[in-house]
Amino acid sequence: MALPRLPRWSAIALLLGAVMFGLGSSDLVYAQAGHVSRGNGCRRVVALTFDDGPNPPYTEQVVDILRRNGARATFFVEGQAAADHPDAVKLLRDAGMAIGSHSYAHSEDLPATQATDFRYDLGRAEAVLEGILGHKPQLYRAPFGKTSATMLDELRNAGYTSIGWDVDSTDWRETSPDEIAGRVLLEAHAGAIVLLHDGALGQDNSDRSGTVEALPAIVAGLRERGYELVTVPDILDPKVCSASLR
Ligand SMILES: [Zn+2]
Repeated sequence: MALPRLPRWSAIALLLGAVMFGLGSSDLVYAQAGHVSRGNGCRRVVALTFDDGPNPPYTEQVVDILRRNGARATFFVEGQAAADHPDAVKLLRDAGMAIGSHSYAHSEDLPATQATDFRYDLGRAEAVLEGILGHKPQLYRAPFGKTSATMLDELRNAGYTSIGWDVDSTDWRETSPDEIAGRVLLEAHAGAIVLLHDGALGQDNSDRSGTVEALPAIVAGLRERGYELVTVPDILDPKVCSASLR
């Protein structure tokens, strides 16, 4: 199954959407620069995103919960972890999840690197994912969410859209499952892109049981509030605003 295509004109559409829905000027700058941190707010849709995997067994547990609930999400995987766990990446694809790159090894230094060094890291992660999936990813989330003008230029040239978030579950702080779910449900809004983690900073076997425990309550709570759970490509697609999403 191919990754749903993210239209190249999505930045323009987001810009128009931002004007229509009255976002501030900083949001417009981000949209123009090819970095987006929220989706279309025209409909009650939320995109859950999971970073830093694949990280067995937590990645599989997250997918299992999503699948049992008929929900989809987006996973920003590290190239190194993907190379170590290719079957987990195939599981994501086969479960209908969207997959983006989260760099090769989650280096903190990427915003300070030269274009050639960033290109190398981007290409290294891309080669791993293309080798597993058969196509290049089109979404990128920077480690720690930290981008630079150089990174955004390189990403745009390489056909990527840089994806941030506007709801932070704070699961990376190892908060309790109740706190994680409570924060997501408190801050959820139409078009929200939610940050969660199925791994941690390039460390294999990091414990993400708190996120796994919080997930059923997050999915159920969002549904109770009338939200549909969609992928990042879906939430950025203007078609999400009509009934013709699927
Ligand atoms: Zn990360």
